[in-house]
Amino acid sequence: NHNPKTSIVLFGATGDLAKRKLYPSIYNLYITGKLSEQFVVIGIARRPWDDQTLRDNVRKAIEEAHLPTDNIEQFCNHFFYLPFDVTDTKSYQRLNQRLQELETEFHIPGNRIYYMAMAPEFFGTIAIQLKNEGVTQSDGWNRLVIEKPFGHDLPSAQKLNNEIREAFTEDQIYRIDHYLGKEMVQNIEVIRFANAIFEPLWNNRHISNIQITSSEVLGVEDRGGYYETSGALRDMVQNHLLQMVLLLSMDPPIRLATDEVRSEKIKVLRAVRSISSEEADDYFIRGQYDAGTIQDHQVPGYRSEKNVNPESKTETFVSGKLMIDNHRWAGVPFYVRTGKRMAQKSTKIVVQFKDLPLNVYTQKNEKQDSSIHPNLLVIHIQPDEGITLILNGKKIGLLGETIPVKLDYSHTSVDGVNTPEAYERLIYDCMLGDATNFAHWDEVNLSWALIDPISEAWSDSNKDIAKYEAGTMGPIESERLLEKDGFKWWPLE
Ligand code: NAD
Repeated sequence: NHNPKTSIVLFGATGDLAKRKLYPSIYNLYITGKLSEQFVVIGIARRPWDDQTLRDNVRKAIEEAHLPTDNIEQFCNHFFYLPFDVTDTKSYQRLNQRLQELETEFHIPGNRIYYMAMAPEFFGTIAIQLKNEGVTQSDGWNRLVIEKPFGHDLPSAQKLNNEIREAFTEDQIYRIDHYLGKEMVQNIEVIRFANAIFEPLWNNRHISNIQITSSEVLGVEDRGGYYETSGALRDMVQNHLLQMVLLLSMDPPIRLATDEVRSEKIKVLRAVRSISSEEADDYFIRGQYDAGTIQDHQVPGYRSEKNVNPESKTETFVSGKLMIDNHRWAGVPFYVRTGKRMAQKSTKIVVQFKDLPLNVYTQKNEKQDSSIHPNLLVIHIQPDEGITLILNGKKIGLLGETIPVKLDYSHTSVDGVNTPEAYERLIYDCMLGDATNFAHWDEVNLSWALIDPISEAWSDSNKDIAKYEAGTMGPIESERLLEKDGFKWWPLE
């Protein structure tokens, strides 16, 4: 069945995520025929809205996403609103009743998705109340979608997980990592496992290092309050960057089934070398943006942003090295870096292949001391989508001189930035019951265990945090991290 009949209960229906991502995504599923007419969305939040207010807001969100609005009237008729206090038992009873009425009216067989798009401190309470008030005892399936952050360290993640596991089984839980919904992130597996020219080279005999960058131009905007409690390590590395490391490093699964893919990811995650607090500085460095110029605009430093402590030590930049101690990867560093207020917005992976054992070209070419350019495979995730392969060719006319040649393949991404596609795909996967592109608890558990000693080392340190000028690629320490190993960050053009 490719047109699932579903009710979506959306906690946080008046929020930013709902407006910018979820409504446009559900609408796209509708206009592309992936949703049958047998669906409803019950929006839940504190505000005393009614169905019409929600529908007006959904319409506005879709207009702002520049989507075609032909079917919008018909679409909005599937939306209902319930003012809700998440701590009040009666709210859940009213929800259950409303669901039953709407399921009868829309012929939906009791399939229910509970989408948590609200402050994470409520996730546990909501899950437990949904069970206690019998909402999850419908005739169809019941699934819980959880937004990030999933905890802010291992103990808090375990606590949250224990709470939601009281009401939902692991296979009913869909932990969102929206990077896993991105076209080119999913393409990593295709590039690796569907190409005879890459898979045989995908190991420490042929790859020298892998670099993953996710950079932003924006600063902390109006999320200073949240960001102060989080920082780049928790906000980006623990989830998104680590997920990309796993997709790049896992062994080929025997089948493309959820359990097979997940068990390969978990297996390689267990092989990632743990880093103690004492060793943290050898593997990870942090930075914080100072004032600077971006695209001809003066921007303030992090410490002058709204709701940020003027003496804040929160990192807005992280650069780190992960080692995977298994047969395939022993000795190959995986470098990751991410930050705000950097020179450009980009998510990219660079796979650097090892040099040939003998290079006849530099020997002939006296004036050029550099060796030939290493072969690189660049996977562009956003805003451009595509791959570039850098090979060496002969420089025209000159004997014995080589020149790097770029083979470019690019996907035209819709609008470039902020396409709702990742969420669209993930919501649809959840409706179909496919959890492959969601994080399993074992992944979340192990990744916090890896990250916690680093955050502890940083919070205990009295060293001042390295600063970088807004509009650059981070502090000099980030370059040094690779120089130590004889490498450099490849430019992101
Ligand atoms: P938001 O503050 O804009 O919206 C929060 C929503 O929760 C509102 O609808 C509000 O009415 C509702 N709410 C809060 N307290 C409530 C209560 N006691 N009872 C009932 N309703 C209540 O937040 P957001 O930016 O939409 O983020 C929601 C979740 O999604 C968070 O967990 C966030 O970390 C995550 N997230 C957001 C984004 C994003 O781009 N905004 C991206 C990734 C993850």
